[in-house]
Amino acid sequence: MRTLVILMVLMVTICAQTQQTTPILSRIEIEASNSEKMMQLATLYEVRAVNGNVMEIIIPSVHIKEAEEIAGSTAKIIEKDIHEQISKERLDEYPTYQQVQDQMKAWEDAYPQFVKLEQYGSSTSGYPLLALKVTDNVNEDENEPSVLLTAATHGDELITVKVMLAIMKRVIEGNGAIQEITELVNNREIWFIPVVSPDGYTRRQRYVGWTDPNRDYPWPQDPQHKSIPCIQGLRDLFTQHNFDASVDYHASGRMYMYPWAYTKQSPSKTQDFDIIAKGMAKYNGYIYGQISKVIYVAQGSSCDYYHWRHKTTSLAVEVGRSKVPHGAEIDRVVAENIDAALFFIEKAPK
Ligand SMILES: [Zn+2]
Repeated sequence: MRTLVILMVLMVTICAQTQQTTPILSRIEIEASNSEKMMQLATLYEVRAVNGNVMEIIIPSVHIKEAEEIAGSTAKIIEKDIHEQISKERLDEYPTYQQVQDQMKAWEDAYPQFVKLEQYGSSTSGYPLLALKVTDNVNEDENEPSVLLTAATHGDELITVKVMLAIMKRVIEGNGAIQEITELVNNREIWFIPVVSPDGYTRRQRYVGWTDPNRDYPWPQDPQHKSIPCIQGLRDLFTQHNFDASVDYHASGRMYMYPWAYTKQSPSKTQDFDIIAKGMAKYNGYIYGQISKVIYVAQGSSCDYYHWRHKTTSLAVEVGRSKVPHGAEIDRVVAENIDAALFFIEKAPK
């Protein structure tokens, strides 16, 4: 049987009790004995890259032992601290969470007739969880199809915040000026959450403590699952407003995806999902399909949860080719995602 080499980037906090301390990242090499074990690891942890028979995954240090048991081999640390290298990536092209909040407030102040800022909870570290509602008669709960767009569930996927802010800007500034957008604002309740996980976004981390927010939703084999505050707040918001459709923005991979992630079986609404995903992909050439088939099996994701628990149309997007692109690449990824999002807002909640 072919031997697979797996590179694991370990997130090791200086002290397990102080989880908010800047993590030391280490890279270790581990051998897995077959592709089935590789798939099993991919189900549990973030896959950062796959190159031939080498898979790079990010894993909190508390899970190392578990991963080693699955891999069936001893792990070897080959690079002890790569935090330095990661933190050198430029950040000045991305807004801070404070700037995101300021922008949302500025839109509400400028357009109070159809823009409303709502705090739906607080994160583990105490950051406000904020959503922006955009619709005509924004202070009423009208009987219009509702749609939720979310980004930065994974705090290290910075490009998703740029994409979401650009979609928001297009909708807000287009209302009253562009007929198609005015009709959307008049006939939809559109909710935007540019940063689902402020704790992750402010630290540029996928994880909150030891929790992956997009593995933190209940799913059929863990229906009573308790979520961390940023996910529980979102679940409550969803229940409160009974959204008809939702799309969760991630990076990267250039993919539109729909349930299920937890199994390779397909939901009965597959054809409907496929029509929406295909329609979005027409704007940018992204590939599309069922999550467990186009990426890998994953348990406890937002996409599965909303369709499973609320029977709604739920999609996940992997935008661009990088979590933190630079320069013109940022503008390109943003531009290729706006019309596709407008298509989703119009078609998905029907
Ligand atoms: Zn993600």
